[in-house]
Amino acid sequence: MRFALRRLYGKRKEMSEIEKSNVNIVQAPDGIEGPGFFVTMLDKAVGLGRKNSLWPLPFATSCCGIEFMATAAATYDLGRFGAERLSFSPRQADLLMVMGTISKKMIPVVRQVYQQMAEPRWVLAMGACACSGGIFDTYSVLQGIDKIIPVDVYIPGCPPRPEQVIDGIIQIQKLAESETTRRRNQPEYKALMEKYGME
Ligand code: SF4
Repeated sequence: MRFALRRLYGKRKEMSEIEKSNVNIVQAPDGIEGPGFFVTMLDKAVGLGRKNSLWPLPFATSCCGIEFMATAAATYDLGRFGAERLSFSPRQADLLMVMGTISKKMIPVVRQVYQQMAEPRWVLAMGACACSGGIFDTYSVLQGIDKIIPVDVYIPGCPPRPEQVIDGIIQIQKLAESETTRRRNQPEYKALMEKYGME
């Protein structure tokens, strides 16, 4: 990565200026390094790519969605985490972010969106409503999206601050980085999907 940056910016002097700035230089995964070569495990290389190129699908139904917009805008700049490419097509997304109150009428829609996403996929429940129904303990509101789809990370709050959303994204990044490429074929994962009535 440093080598690539050096080529990009040309001079060593300019590179040292970048190193002094707050530009985040991604660390190479563990591996064996020598003159002219670097060897690592496929899982680690794939995990590095997945971690730093999440494509979130913002499923925003109410006020938490506005807080997410603030997180993606200039001040908090979600793009620093490689997640600025928001996808409104489930087939080109790997992180489903559910933000807001989910009414029971919306259950088939949320499930369909989740099932249309390709593996590997992660789910982040943002805010009290998505996590547990929040203050809307009524006949028409789903009391937490984990009743219909598996959730990887929960962000509490009503609404959560952008810093909390960023922390949630970082937790998803840790999962994406450490997940083996074989996890989705394991019996535990298949059993989890069966529990939700999915393949
Ligand atoms: S958790 Fe609070 S801010 Fe978020 S959607 Fe529910 S009521 Fe709105």
